[in-house]
Amino acid sequence: MPVCEFAERLKQLPPYLFKEIDRVKEEVKARGVDIIDLGVGDPDLPTPDFIIAALQRAVEDPSTHRYPSYSGMNNFREAVARWYERRFGVELDPEREVVTLIGSKEGIAHLPLAFNNPGDLNLATSPAYPVYHIGTLFAGARTHFLPLLAENNFLPDLQQVSGEVARQAKLLFFNYPNNPTAAVADPAFFAQVVQFCQEHNIVAVHDAAYTEMAYDGYSPASFLQTPGAKELGIEFHSLSKTYNMTGWRLGFAVGQAKIIEGLGKIKSNIDSGVFNAIQYAGIAALDSDQSIVLENCRILQERRDILVAGLKKLGYRVTAPKATFYVWLPTPTGLSSAQFTSLLLEQAGIVTTPGNGFGAPGEGYVRLALTVPAARIEEALARLARLG
Ligand SMILES: *Cc1c(COP(=O)(O)O)cnc(C)c1O
Repeated sequence: MPVCEFAERLKQLPPYLFKEIDRVKEEVKARGVDIIDLGVGDPDLPTPDFIIAALQRAVEDPSTHRYPSYSGMNNFREAVARWYERRFGVELDPEREVVTLIGSKEGIAHLPLAFNNPGDLNLATSPAYPVYHIGTLFAGARTHFLPLLAENNFLPDLQQVSGEVARQAKLLFFNYPNNPTAAVADPAFFAQVVQFCQEHNIVAVHDAAYTEMAYDGYSPASFLQTPGAKELGIEFHSLSKTYNMTGWRLGFAVGQAKIIEGLGKIKSNIDSGVFNAIQYAGIAALDSDQSIVLENCRILQERRDILVAGLKKLGYRVTAPKATFYVWLPTPTGLSSAQFTSLLLEQAGIVTTPGNGFGAPGEGYVRLALTVPAARIEEALARLARLG
């Protein structure tokens, strides 16, 4: 069909690096191998019962069956503001500083449409969640990648950004606790971001999807707690990982009113918001005593401890993550990310994600997700031990 040619923005999409892995995975599965999937960042634990019950009650109420409001139900945005105040001590105006999202991916992907003109430049850390770059691409803008390196604790070195690049940049995407490296940021780094963005007139875009998934008593900060951040920043949150609700599609963005307004304008012209019954379930989650979040972290911490201790015993150089449900594992000497991923899959039936799939600086690592029960992690370790 020659009349139907893909637009340039689709042709510019980066090659799908998991294609080869998907192929090998199918092949290994077809051989009847019992696969242990540590590949996808999707919680295996179910959504808590009280959240499901709240959805069931809400869906019985016909008032939820109509179009939702574009910026999100007032009640949900008020629940977000209450949660933010309780959790981070940050005060938000639910009307002007909060917008409801159909999952945070949607909001992240749409944000550049509100602030980028064709040819503009955005900064994004790398390796990273791919949506920062792809949202930028779809808005006709370009990405300048800031490498996350082990020697800098996987924080971008903002001093390395040239004046030329900084002057052009419109948005800076960053994400802590970080997917895929599992790195965390301290208040000093967030303060550097504020200073950098103030100096160069850049919108700070913080993806905070993992602030509620942390271990050993560590409690990750919101970027908006940083002095000055609320004047130039937007922060994305999601109920997906916090409450095991990835399939529900519910998230939100908070921050400077004009940035929120810009994103809201794009969204009101593209989608019609989140099903109100789901927003009611989200209110139940945010207003709850958060014991479910603690319980989740306890389960994940146990898995983390088993995996990290087991890997160390086998001679891998690995650091226990303080947050997120990922382990960022350096590949054994001499093996690329792709080679190690293939070896684990073909010889041990273990699915992992090659680090370079998240960006070139991720080469030399694979990402393991703690999304299987402890017994399966032990089985994976036993298979690794047999690999030698
Ligand atoms: C999972 C994830 C998200 C969000 O997901 P939604 O389900 O769309 O809310 C956002 N950023 C990162 C880094 C993630 O890993």
